[in-house]
Amino acid sequence: MKIARFSTEGDPRYGIVDGDDLVVLSGDPMFSGFDTTGERVPLDSVKLLAPVIPRSKVVAVGLNYVDPEEESAEATPETPVLFLKPNTSIVGPGDAIQIPPVDGRIVHEGELAIVIGRVAKQVKAANYADYVFGYTIANDVSARDVMFSDGQWARAKGYDTFCPIGPVIETELDAGNLEITTFVDGEPRRSGNTKDMIHTIAEIIEFASDVWTLLPGDIILTGSPAGLGGFVDGQTVDITIEGIGTLSNPARNRQ
Ligand code: MG
Repeated sequence: MKIARFSTEGDPRYGIVDGDDLVVLSGDPMFSGFDTTGERVPLDSVKLLAPVIPRSKVVAVGLNYVDPEEESAEATPETPVLFLKPNTSIVGPGDAIQIPPVDGRIVHEGELAIVIGRVAKQVKAANYADYVFGYTIANDVSARDVMFSDGQWARAKGYDTFCPIGPVIETELDAGNLEITTFVDGEPRRSGNTKDMIHTIAEIIEFASDVWTLLPGDIILTGSPAGLGGFVDGQTVDITIEGIGTLSNPARNRQ
């Protein structure tokens, strides 16, 4: 099922995508199941929102795909390289990525995002699927020069709007072999396949849940395929992942 979070007017609601419509749910399906209200609304009449707002954290994995052009030792880490993005960096489909006035390129990183559905603490890899609510698409936006000048990634990857997610959460997906492609203004930039992750989804959940308790609604970005790409004010970044859809966000210089 594809689960969307949306607004028409008033408070956000949730729905199941059914053709061109949303079947409206009576509450947040992560906590109250999939009971429907009986109402249907056309998809093109709603504003889609970020399908989840992580209540505690966005975990992200760096350097999780082999880059054939980058033969550095750090390109194949033995354990996942984890970092955090604040939940205030989240925006939804169609929302603008606000480019702050910093030096250097702003780059896109199209990534499969795991949506955690249950409290996860010291999970064993074999049991990972019990803790996954579904999968969505994320853009791990990064200010490239800030990463290097700061020597770590909190600011470079943590600006407001630097974590677009959506458009939906797919709850029934075998995520082990999915094409990921990123486009800027319709031109393909990066592509890869989730089968080429260095650390698998199961390994990442085991490793991350050994560090932090993961709460329902937390998300884990699983890394982006090789090949950097920048974007500027006025351009639009689209990320397509097989089986989920396309996350599209325009970029604007921050006012
Ligand atoms: Mg990344």
